[in-house]
Amino acid sequence: MFGKSVKSVQRRVLLKRQAADGIITFAKTWHPNEAILILQGKSDRKNRQIIVDSLVVPPFTSNGPFFSGFSMYDLPFDSSYIGTAHSHPGPSNRPSLEDLNHFFGLVSVIIHHPYEYETIGAFDRNGNSMEIELFD
Ligand SMILES: [Zn+2]
Repeated sequence: MFGKSVKSVQRRVLLKRQAADGIITFAKTWHPNEAILILQGKSDRKNRQIIVDSLVVPPFTSNGPFFSGFSMYDLPFDSSYIGTAHSHPGPSNRPSLEDLNHFFGLVSVIIHHPYEYETIGAFDRNGNSMEIELFD
């Protein structure tokens, strides 16, 4: 189907409000350290959407002021794992080089201090920003 602008090529992230709330709470709990969670959901290729509906706490400690990524190889394979969410205690949710080097799945959700809906960002593996839409 044609007729859509080039912008529609970009993927959109549909984030369940409950998952967004979970990310916010988790980030606040670990502040001033970084926190990381695994996103569960599915990819809707046809509509270029990534749907995130739940969170998984990684089965190992990966929090610290000098967070340096973590190994997804430690996780059991699960095709519903579609990305990660982590917090930035600083003022920016832009992915760091380190974040991009450790990119997992289809989407990296990053929330920065003070951890509100407005400070949540979503990025693809090239570090391009994706649109986020909350759903209930
Ligand atoms: Zn980061």
